[in-house]
Amino acid sequence: MEKLVFNILNRMYCLLTNFRQKPLTNPPWNSRHRRRNLLHDFEKSIFLHCLDQISERSQEREEEEEDEDLWSCLGPLEAFLGAGASRQLRVNKQAAVVAATRNGSWNLPAARSHSVETLHITLTSISPPQSELGPDRHLWIQGNGDFGDTFSSKVTWELLRNPAPIVPWSPVVWFKEHVPRNSFIAWLALLRRLPTRDRLRRWGMSVPETCVLCSSGIETHHHLFFECAFSSSIWSFFASRVFPSPPADLHSAASWIALHRAPSSPSANPLIKLIFQASIYLIWKEQNQRIFKAEFASGGTIRRSLDRFLRDRLLSFPTRNPLDPSMLEFYFTCIRPP
Ligand SMILES: [Zn+2]
Repeated sequence: MEKLVFNILNRMYCLLTNFRQKPLTNPPWNSRHRRRNLLHDFEKSIFLHCLDQISERSQEREEEEEDEDLWSCLGPLEAFLGAGASRQLRVNKQAAVVAATRNGSWNLPAARSHSVETLHITLTSISPPQSELGPDRHLWIQGNGDFGDTFSSKVTWELLRNPAPIVPWSPVVWFKEHVPRNSFIAWLALLRRLPTRDRLRRWGMSVPETCVLCSSGIETHHHLFFECAFSSSIWSFFASRVFPSPPADLHSAASWIALHRAPSSPSANPLIKLIFQASIYLIWKEQNQRIFKAEFASGGTIRRSLDRFLRDRLLSFPTRNPLDPSMLEFYFTCIRPP
């Protein structure tokens, strides 16, 4: 994975096609580059290889290495055109890119194969090296495919990852007022990735299948959130006071929250999301406490914990308009402490 990221970063760090000058900066992820202060230019970039020949003298030996310099989107031309590339293009195998130009223009023989014709077409979009264009610059590929001077970790991540469609419950998990630990557990629950007993048994572990909270149902994600009578007594107690008829099912509840886009108060949406996430977090925490520490809390204790959490969290959001109630004031209009 580390090598993959390195290769992609290398490919994102591209040489702007000027002439014979040092880059403004060296690739920051590669200590070898920093140490050597490399020259990347069309006088050193080998036309057919897409490689730089780099020499380093040390006291003991002279070391010869190669670095990728993808000056053409076709990649190494020897690989693209085959073994006869040098003969077809009448370019020496070790010739630099600048050797394929004359008087500031590309200078190659007429195309006699489809591959060479493709190369000719590609070269029309690549400016040949010209000294009057100034020093070489290294640029980062930006999100829209253009090049820029700045590195963005966000753009890099977007280029590295394989994006999946945005799930409809995404805004229920990730929102401005969220608490990271609660969002994380809610996210895992909605993906059905928490190690519930039904999953542990599918993995071959010898554990009871009964829900540790109610001792009657089979412990699955949907049972825990919120078909279980114990869980439902926590979730429904708070949720029903913000919006009527909260569903007793995890994904239905997430959709139900997402559908309430125009509530009576702007505080209602973040409040119901906080209740949703904190309910999942505290229920999952209680399940763990019972299994691993043999400590049992009642539904009333969990509700008081949730009430305390919500008050502390909402206290940190002052009202934007002095005439509007704060989120904490809105909470007190909805919910009488358990
Ligand atoms: Zn249960």
